[in-house]
Amino acid sequence: MATPEPPAVPDAPSASDPAANDTIFGRILRGEIPCDQVYADERCLAFRDVAPQAPVHVLVIPRAPIVRLDQAGEEHAGLLGHLLLVAARVARQEGLTGFRTVINSGAEAGQSVFHLHLHVIGGRPLAWPPG
Ligand code: AMP
Repeated sequence: MATPEPPAVPDAPSASDPAANDTIFGRILRGEIPCDQVYADERCLAFRDVAPQAPVHVLVIPRAPIVRLDQAGEEHAGLLGHLLLVAARVARQEGLTGFRTVINSGAEAGQSVFHLHLHVIGGRPLAWPPG
């Protein structure tokens, strides 16, 4: 009897896939759909997660359409540092004394929107390890 095929794991689009630029976050960046914005500058946008996992749950996204963290290169080093500083700024702005940043990279890690984003989560005690 043949061994059953393992369930298919959804593939993330590659950086060269034009569809990678057309995620829901791309649509937010282009102003095609609204968001609850908390911060914006020339390199990134931060807005509240539509399905918050804590009293404060903000997403920080680069304007550049980087698909996921492992597709960022040396040329993005400054931008990645900037995203972290913006995450800390947003946490201060939200009055958080402690917070967690999360980047899910790839479907196996729970990434569901294939435009790089940092989660900024806080406002309640956060357990470790994460699920
Ligand atoms: P991840 O699972 O790491 O890819 O995170 C994607 C996040 O985007 C999830 O927490 C979703 O709740 C959130 N999300 C999806 N669509 C929207 C939207 N239109 N506005 C705000 N957050 C969204």
